[in-house]
Amino acid sequence: MNEVDNETREKIEKIADLLIQSKNAVILSGAGISTESGIPDFRGPDGLWTQMDGNEMDLASIDGFERAARGEGSSNLLDLLQPLIEKLMTARPNRAHKAVGKLYKMGLIKAVITQNIDNLHQRGGARNVIEVHGTYKTATCMGCKKKYSFEQLIGMVMEKGMFPPVCKECGNFIKPDVVFFGESLPPIAVAKAMEYSKTCDLMLVLGSSLVVYPIAMAPNLAKQAGAKIVIINNEQTDKDHLADIIINESLGVVMPLVLEAVQRKMKSSS
Ligand code: NAD
Repeated sequence: MNEVDNETREKIEKIADLLIQSKNAVILSGAGISTESGIPDFRGPDGLWTQMDGNEMDLASIDGFERAARGEGSSNLLDLLQPLIEKLMTARPNRAHKAVGKLYKMGLIKAVITQNIDNLHQRGGARNVIEVHGTYKTATCMGCKKKYSFEQLIGMVMEKGMFPPVCKECGNFIKPDVVFFGESLPPIAVAKAMEYSKTCDLMLVLGSSLVVYPIAMAPNLAKQAGAKIVIINNEQTDKDHLADIIINESLGVVMPLVLEAVQRKMKSSS
């Protein structure tokens, strides 16, 4: 454990104890857990938003998407999406995703509530992943609701140069199943996320600035229900006041150490 200082090491030991003692631990993750897989976050120092000039809400809004799709806006939407799509296609689960996956397989985590759309938790071994902001893996026709896979969409955009991609059945635009600003969140996923938040006894918040609602309320619900809150993020978050333990370090360093501490403690007690 020489990658972190003594204070962080002590906190990691406490988090491991909490994970072992808890009966209903959940993870709440955000874009920060995937930056070490090469996918930029939104609001971190190198985030997509941080590098933009204030029109990001418009670009990532459903209205902005529809305007761009109708050819009324600028081509900025594709400019924004293309590098992100390329990163999503090449990204692999990192050490933090894999540590979460192992903790899930050990039965120490009941659910992973994620704001990410990148599918990396699943690829890192976690199950019961609740995607509250959708997924890039599928897309839906905005007219007839026909479903398309990501591969079909990529074939249209990248190979046939069709932007925006249109439905072969009805000719309407096809939108990735990612929640844009101004769109409703998937109601079943949100209901499940809120239920887990109200009933968990430990919530680990990993790599989220906790400013996107309603999911930013999840730690409040967990706290009100008496759960312990752990926040691991490389900068302060909006909900630090709720946390019992805060670590401001990289998740790729901290999560493998949490897993290692859990495994050591469980081995020594068996
Ligand atoms: P955010 O960008 O608002 O916050 C991410 C936080 O993680 C920041 O505070 C940042 O400092 C921290 N962080 C970055 N790298 C880290 C690391 N290696 N270790 C520890 N902390 C790190 O992200 P959010 O709270 O998830 O909200 C942004 C919204 O953007 C979400 O709704 C999500 O749907 C979407 N988004 C998703 C992805 C993805 O799927 N990977 C990527 C970008 C944005």
